[in-house]
Amino acid sequence: MKKTILLIFLLSLAAKGWPQSYTVDSVPNTKIINNSYVSNPDALITPGAVAQIDQLLASLEQQTTAQVAVVVLHSIGENTPEDFAQALFVKWGIGRANKDNGLLILFVEDQRTVRFHTGFGLEGALPDAICKRIQIQKMVPAFKEGNTDAGMLAGIEEVFKILTDPAYTDELREPDKTSDASSLTFFFAMGWFIVGPFVFFMKRKSGYSNSIQTSSDKPNSKISKGQWWLLCYLLPLGLATFLSFNNDWVLIALSFYGYFIFMALLKYLRVLSRGNAWLKKGLYSTVYTFYKENSKWMGLAILFPIPFAFLIRPYKRKMQAVREHPRDCHQCGTKMNRLSEATEDKYLSKEYQFEENLKSVDYDVWLCAACGSVSVEQYVNERTKYAACPKCKTYAFYTERTTTLVHATTSSTGEEEIIKRCKYCNNRERTTITIPMISTSSDSSSSSGDSGGSYGGGDSGGGGASSSW
Ligand SMILES: [Zn+2]
Ligand SMILES: [Zn+2]
Repeated sequence: MKKTILLIFLLSLAAKGWPQSYTVDSVPNTKIINNSYVSNPDALITPGAVAQIDQLLASLEQQTTAQVAVVVLHSIGENTPEDFAQALFVKWGIGRANKDNGLLILFVEDQRTVRFHTGFGLEGALPDAICKRIQIQKMVPAFKEGNTDAGMLAGIEEVFKILTDPAYTDELREPDKTSDASSLTFFFAMGWFIVGPFVFFMKRKSGYSNSIQTSSDKPNSKISKGQWWLLCYLLPLGLATFLSFNNDWVLIALSFYGYFIFMALLKYLRVLSRGNAWLKKGLYSTVYTFYKENSKWMGLAILFPIPFAFLIRPYKRKMQAVREHPRDCHQCGTKMNRLSEATEDKYLSKEYQFEENLKSVDYDVWLCAACGSVSVEQYVNERTKYAACPKCKTYAFYTERTTTLVHATTSSTGEEEIIKRCKYCNNRERTTITIPMISTSSDSSSSSGDSGGSYGGGDSGGGGASSSW
């Protein structure tokens, strides 16, 4: 009778969940049993907390496919939490098999330890240092007070925030980032210190201007060698060195933004003043073309609306003024008049008129009222499909047809035939070009959402962190 009573007593204790020591095999996998992320066989956290954690982790898996298993045990015997967590992680296969994005949170009451064990795929988002910080800041204080519910919830909420909101992770990493800023600018300075002179010598032949070069046939916008050393070498070098001591991403961004604006503005002013020097020689058409060739900076208005958006109109007006400025007659020195589009045609050859109709070239005809001499200025429109015909030189040469002769595959190149034709003289030219091989990119997509009755088969490299109290 006594034996029976003892047996019933022991059985009832077991049924209530008498604290026992668990092995990896004896921990109930609740994901399979009742699709719960929380294995809590010793009832160390309340059913309310389990429900909250389940809700949070289901939402996490739906949003990110990451799987988190929470195991709350009284004892794992003599095992260490690290070994136990690794073995349990592998046995259950927490995380998607192809992503290894699992996390096991193991709480061991008698060892007063909490362990985060991360799969390969989560080591980037949850590096060990971040795991440790979550434990120390969010969990251990509550565990010390015996409030297991609060500690688990706070820790899991933090994991949820990190995995669902990349901006939040950046906030957590801020202290690391600033030291990156300093080393980045330092390496930039070191790199440019060494590479800069090579760049100089590579550009030495044709890259610099000795003066405004009024000796060549057209103006240029190049800088002198001395200016290059000052503006392109020493200035960025000094700037990067200064920034490497200041460790501030915002300051770095602003400084380089400012540097590029400064350099672009210098170029803008340089182009204007070089053009002005040539205007004194009366070469209006040359300067107009020079201004036009150097108007690419207008694209900068998108990146740097201040000041470039405000410079576009004055620059265009200046260009137009240069183009329309009265020229001196080469014969008698009298001011010439520009003819209107309607009256200029009789001074233009058939080819020129053809080009004007195609809009591939615009011609201005200047007539001297005193001596009757005529000067024709040519402005090629770069934005049409027409180029100069190799045979008749008319800007009416275009790609009439391209035909694929041999299709490119993933293992061999292809061939393409290009027929170009001159609309004016009907000259046709055929060329073939090689089409590069098709490159394959292997991207397999995977479904997202709750995986239902079991974990997905993820693997862990043993990353993670533990904290004790
Ligand atoms: Zn004249
Ligand atoms: Zn032709």
